[in-house]
Amino acid sequence: MIVIDGKKAAAELRQELKQEVSELKSKYNKVPGLTVILIGDLAPSQIYVRNKEKSATEVGLKSDVIRYPDTVEEKTVLEKIQELNSDETVSGILVQLPLPKHIDKQKVIEAIHPSKDVDGFHPMNVGNLSSGYESSVPCTPLGCYLLIKKIEPNLSGKKAVVVGRSNLNGKPMTQLLLKENCTVTITHSRTKDLKAECLEADIIVAAVGIPELVRGDWVKKDAIVIDVGINKTDKGIVGDVHFDEVSNNAKALTPVPGGVGPMTIACLLKNTIDCFKRSQI
Ligand code: NAD
Repeated sequence: MIVIDGKKAAAELRQELKQEVSELKSKYNKVPGLTVILIGDLAPSQIYVRNKEKSATEVGLKSDVIRYPDTVEEKTVLEKIQELNSDETVSGILVQLPLPKHIDKQKVIEAIHPSKDVDGFHPMNVGNLSSGYESSVPCTPLGCYLLIKKIEPNLSGKKAVVVGRSNLNGKPMTQLLLKENCTVTITHSRTKDLKAECLEADIIVAAVGIPELVRGDWVKKDAIVIDVGINKTDKGIVGDVHFDEVSNNAKALTPVPGGVGPMTIACLLKNTIDCFKRSQI
């Protein structure tokens, strides 16, 4: 069984991106820029943003963080986004979620120009992805997709089961697998027999938020299993897949931590560079 090393894959991707940034710098005499807006002082958000900033700087991107207290008015944030939309030095804009209750998340997402939407949450990018057009793709499913392709470059005709239908993970994951000509089943909390669905799958992507939901006897021999879940339990952080049980059947499996997680930030950097490249055409 292959334990898919997300840390290594992310380090390799960052190395490729660093090289690409250096080539873009020579060609255009400027580098892609990522601006993150951070509202409030939630500890996990502070950590994510610090890691994003560090990784962006490491690959040679211009990186800025704009901080607001959690009392900031929605209008102030929307005006800042408009300013960044017309700033040529900014290739990508990310507003760190979650937002304080008085700020409308959807309004904020839609204020970001689709060409700078490095999270891939703008309805225009969601629509482009589902129509098979070029778009920014949400970072976590993009990371899952790259890990799957490393194990199995030709996915055509494979049966994939995505567990969870969130806009953040399950739905875009489904679109990426469809684009690769997989036959995709998307399952969720109302699915009647999740085990039976999973047992059909050559590829399972679990993005649910329930510790160790996917058990060993749910997984067909030689399936590729990608675990997006991050769940705090008494045993520490575990995924949505029972690692020990599933590792007896699967061909390849991502650990938690150290699987999908490290790819997410690397894909954010990739999205920023891709936004920059599209803006130069
Ligand atoms: P979400 O809560 O938005 O969606 C969960 C989905 O799971 C829903 O579509 C729901 O229908 C489905 N679901 C709930 N109970 C189910 C059940 N019993 N059987 C089948 N489906 C069920 O969650 P999300 O934002 O997609 O996040 C999912 C997990 O991924 C969480 O643990 C989150 O922390 C983690 N996550 C990890 C990363 C990363 O970088 N690795 C990024 C984002 C989220």
